Amino acid sequence: MPLASQNTKGPCFWCIKVMKWVPVLFIMTIVAWSYYAYVIQLCFLTVDSLMVKILYLIFYHISLAMFLWAYWQTVFTDIGRVPQKYRIPDVCHEQLLRAESAEEQHNILEEYSKNLPNVNVNINGAVRYCDKCRCIKPDRAHHCSVCGECVLKMDHHCPWVNNCVSFTNYKFFVLFLGYALLYCIYVALTALPYFIAFWNGKLSGVGRFHILFLFFVAVMFAISLISLFFYHCYLVSENRTTLEAFRAPIFRTGEDKHGFSLSRYNNFCEVFGDDPKKWFLPIQSSLGNGIEFPLNLHQQRTYRSMECTQNGLETNS
Ligand SMILES: [Zn+2]
Ligand SMILES: [Zn+2]
Repeated sequence: MPLASQNTKGPCFWCIKVMKWVPVLFIMTIVAWSYYAYVIQLCFLTVDSLMVKILYLIFYHISLAMFLWAYWQTVFTDIGRVPQKYRIPDVCHEQLLRAESAEEQHNILEEYSKNLPNVNVNINGAVRYCDKCRCIKPDRAHHCSVCGECVLKMDHHCPWVNNCVSFTNYKFFVLFLGYALLYCIYVALTALPYFIAFWNGKLSGVGRFHILFLFFVAVMFAISLISLFFYHCYLVSENRTTLEAFRAPIFRTGEDKHGFSLSRYNNFCEVFGDDPKKWFLPIQSSLGNGIEFPLNLHQQRTYRSMECTQNGLETNS
């Protein structure tokens, strides 16, 4: 970003930018406190058996490390940006502004996009265009009003990670939900015997309140994560984004919520990749480039027959 444009941003801009990190800070504070409550108060000061202590700590640190790794990747992976070839040159933009009718604008965009691999159209059957970014939207890309630009295969903007969940970090996001859920369930189950001991009056000292709250907070977060995690597992199995679950993608033949859905296994591989060794690690392994997506058989046949008709018309003329 040029220095000049940074200088023009007022204090309000920086204030909002800082405020957006508050939910992330909140999560990190909860995690830091849960670490203290689990490791110091529960394992070191409450658990009697050395063997149980060691086992608790080993599995705790593994689940915490996986959870934080996936969270880090979700927060700090850059969004997928629209490539330059989708951006409308100034000349074309001026033509759009000068156009006297929506149909004329439609023709200009149609002409410009004919070499792009797009299959999705807008609700009027026209090329999907973002006026704010001055670009033709690649398939499954949407404009995020928080990020202020079009994002490839946008799922939703998540304030808890202060980032757009999209093509580049969707796998990390699903893993983050899964590992966070695992972390909460593990903490709740291992703290349960001591939680019961608290109610039976067998725990003493101030530390017992940490264990009490640790159990409550773990159960509370597990309940809120479980539906979100399984909903995203369902979306992965259907090869659908959250936005597409609300409004199905539109093809030349109309809406088709299964338009990008392949087999269940292939849908899973689209997000998690085809190498099982990388499936459960928060490292990049999603298939494709975020711009072109394989279509289901029905859409493939439709586009093939449309291409044949088009080629036939061109040959005849
Ligand atoms: Zn945009
Ligand atoms: Zn966003």
